[in-house]
Amino acid sequence: MPRRTRPAIEQLIALLVLSVAGGTAGADGMHAHGKHVHGEVTVNIALEGRTLALEIDAPAAQTLGFEKSPRDDRERAAVKAVDDWFRSGRNMLGVPPAAGCRLTKAEFTPPKLGGGHADYRGSYLFDCAAPEALAWIEVWALRRMQGLEKAEVNLVTPAGQRQETLRGGAVRVTLR
Ligand SMILES: [Zn+2]
Repeated sequence: MPRRTRPAIEQLIALLVLSVAGGTAGADGMHAHGKHVHGEVTVNIALEGRTLALEIDAPAAQTLGFEKSPRDDRERAAVKAVDDWFRSGRNMLGVPPAAGCRLTKAEFTPPKLGGGHADYRGSYLFDCAAPEALAWIEVWALRRMQGLEKAEVNLVTPAGQRQETLRGGAVRVTLR
């Protein structure tokens, strides 16, 4: 595998993780990629100052329902819809309206389908006018997933860092 160039948002999340964790969590669990388990989605959320960073890593089996090359118009349309969604960053997250968060950057490279397993990985930045109002975050992206068994949510906030597992249709994590 060639070394992948890390996009800027991933670097920011890594930096946030490092700064909050005191330099101990960068290489292990908090920012782990590459685990590909059908039914499981990884969500990294970091908050520092006004900046809310989100990273979603999901098997195509969950976002699309398949990981092979699309073979007909219906499957090609499904790929386009999911690609467009991840590229736009729309409806990935729900937050309290009072927090005044708006999407400022979205990074997404469509996966290569048909080469075995494939992951959808999107990185997003939000600017929040009132981050103190972020009492909770809902990972709305999970509602569009198929065959989801659980989502591991890694949270890095000024209050500390922790991991939460969402199951059974749950999408909300509390921040305090
Ligand atoms: Zn797979």
